[in-house]
Amino acid sequence: DWGMEDYKFLFKVVLIGNAGVGKTSLVKRFTQNIFPMGQQSTIGVDFMIKNLIIDGEKVKLQIWDTAGQERFRSITQSYYRSANALILVYDISSQATFDCLPQWLSEIETYAGNNVLTYLVGNKCDKVTRREIPREKADDFANRHDMVFIETSAKECDNVDQLFSQIAQKLTKDA
Ligand code: GDP
Ligand code: MG
Repeated sequence: DWGMEDYKFLFKVVLIGNAGVGKTSLVKRFTQNIFPMGQQSTIGVDFMIKNLIIDGEKVKLQIWDTAGQERFRSITQSYYRSANALILVYDISSQATFDCLPQWLSEIETYAGNNVLTYLVGNKCDKVTRREIPREKADDFANRHDMVFIETSAKECDNVDQLFSQIAQKLTKDA
């Protein structure tokens, strides 16, 4: 680990999506490599920090998790302001969370900067027998809305590191 101010790039990454889709679990898996059972009380601070080395450069990710403010219109502009990347999460075993994506996209359009890097994440991909959203359907939706699509499991630790490091790589490349 390195010092607070010793980094080449600092990026702010913001997670959004319905309550219960696993946003806090993804952040805990990535930053602490833990998966506590049950609904996660949202992190006591506004953000978590993760330091990465990308192409030999020190990159600091500041990861913002919604603090129980998942209801639409209650997340203010300040939350989206200055986000370098957005992670829009749904639950592959919950049609309702997928059906809410257009509402989240309109939030993004209203509050986020133009051309912010946006990932669509289908979490809980370990729940294979409970799948309600086919991969192709989500991939198609992501393509139509200029998002990068990836499925993850915070529980099984599947694709979580890849998600955040891909984001860090893309942001570093474009910095
Ligand atoms: P948030 O409200 O979006 O922050 O969601 P949480 O992280 O609090 O998770 C909500 C519930 O989903 C909890 O019971 C978690 O244990 C569960 N959960 C989160 N991620 C996964 C996952 O990848 N797979 C499975 N099976 N359950 C998960
Ligand atoms: Mg949470």
